[in-house]
Amino acid sequence: MGRDEATNQLENYKQQNRQEQLTTGHGAPIDDKLNSLSVGPRGPLLLQDHVLIDEMAHFDRERIPERVVHAKGAGAFGYFEVTHDISKYCKAAVFDGVGKRTPIAVRFSTVGGESGSADTARDPRGFAVKFYTEEGNWDLVGNNTPIFFIRDPLLFPSFIHTQKRNPVTHLKDPDAFWDFISLMPMTTHQVSFLFSDRGTPNGYRFMNGYGSHTFKLVNAEGEPVYCKFHYKTDQGIKCFNRQEADEMAKNDPDFAIRDLYNSISTENYPSWTMHIQVMTFEEAEKFEFNPFDLTKVWPHGQFPLIQVGKLVLNRNPTNYFSEVEQIAFSPAHLVPGIEPSPDKMLQGRLFSYNDTHRHRLGANWDQIPVNCPYRARVKNMQRDGPMNVSGNQHGAPNYFPNSFSGPTADKKWAQKTIQTSGDVARYNSADEDNFTQCGIFYRDVLNEEEKERLVDNIASHLCNAQKFIQERAIRNFGSADKEYGQRIKENIERRTKLDDENHNRKSNL
Ligand code: NDP
Repeated sequence: MGRDEATNQLENYKQQNRQEQLTTGHGAPIDDKLNSLSVGPRGPLLLQDHVLIDEMAHFDRERIPERVVHAKGAGAFGYFEVTHDISKYCKAAVFDGVGKRTPIAVRFSTVGGESGSADTARDPRGFAVKFYTEEGNWDLVGNNTPIFFIRDPLLFPSFIHTQKRNPVTHLKDPDAFWDFISLMPMTTHQVSFLFSDRGTPNGYRFMNGYGSHTFKLVNAEGEPVYCKFHYKTDQGIKCFNRQEADEMAKNDPDFAIRDLYNSISTENYPSWTMHIQVMTFEEAEKFEFNPFDLTKVWPHGQFPLIQVGKLVLNRNPTNYFSEVEQIAFSPAHLVPGIEPSPDKMLQGRLFSYNDTHRHRLGANWDQIPVNCPYRARVKNMQRDGPMNVSGNQHGAPNYFPNSFSGPTADKKWAQKTIQTSGDVARYNSADEDNFTQCGIFYRDVLNEEEKERLVDNIASHLCNAQKFIQERAIRNFGSADKEYGQRIKENIERRTKLDDENHNRKSNL
């Protein structure tokens, strides 16, 4: 009574399954799983006890490396359905005809915390979608924000280090957090999203997803456009305020995982409507901002949303480790008709994701069932390696070219030819316009209550950093909007004064 579906998982299993014979890992039946094999009742134990050793040795190897970022997450499965024809922009099979459905897997996550951290932490949320298309898997590895903190991947490891634990204290470090952010004004726009209500979404169902990067779409005639992907929640946006998020972190740190599982278990399937924004190459030349800068949006007024389809999640994982811990997304997993743009952050991620999967899951990570492009057939020259479980392409030639019916390449799948030129150098982008869009966000998007919560959320965190860092951060927020910076400054001054008064009162006792 009163037990939700997630709490009732074991009981549900019992109702649906009959008891079977226990076996070892090699499938042999076991007579006794409670008592080790020993010489006499008091031991010692025997090396020949394969039941014990098989169990212990596997247990010792249960953990794989945690993801460096996005370690805590939830997953689900469902489908993508095309509702509007976008073939004039894109030839990808996944968009081929209204009504067409493609199976998908989705993983939601927080970013900075470990796999045991609280789901309601203030953090961006990962929203990664794997489309199992007949032309191979397409992974749209997005977030719940259309932008990101930085625009150059060289900054990424440092940025993440500042959001994680101090190497000595193993505690989150407000100096490191705000030092980096205030030294890199390009973060101001995304930091403002992070500290707004949307920085603490109410679980995973009530938030939007964004491909965030600029991609390139190519149609059947070979004509390209630049594109951004948006998937808007059909449940409506719902967020926790700071106090509610903190309270939930204490009461149920796994709130978002539980909420998603229960919602799908009770057939209350969450869905998102997918849209694209499109920019022609000519428009990209004239756009007032660098259209490949991940710290900026494409304004809706100039680049209206074009509806494409819907994402529906209607199946929970059958096993968390096999289908969620082992699921691995890659921005490099593109399919014909969807190509990368010059976006530097995207270019960095094209390398980094596959690299980390090879480390976490091994060279054959693409063969793990949840990652396998099962609707296309893999035919290449890759062979062997640890945990090769696919049949290793049997007797097919393992070299190219060959004269023995090995797979061949076809020019019709060539990416769009692009022209590029320029001097090779490390171009400093730190002083590009970092504030205009953030100022618009503060002034024109947020209402007065939302502004007040944004200012209070920032001040409550920034007040823990050293004064010179506070001042530098306030200067950045003030550059986006003078009032914005001023209100943060005043809020911190009030907090500091209150702290001093409390301190003095305690010392006088
Ligand atoms: P619009 O008025 O058309 O868009 C404003 C958008 O802001 C909304 O559509 C909504 O995006 C988003 N939004 C509303 N509340 C919040 C919040 N608390 N945190 C984050 N986003 C929120 O204007 P423009 O497109 O011209 O953009 C104006 C500013 O809005 C931008 O400078 C940017 O800061 C912000 N913005 C723009 C987005 C875009 O893709 N153009 C997307 C998100 C924010 P949504 O509909 O995606 O929920």
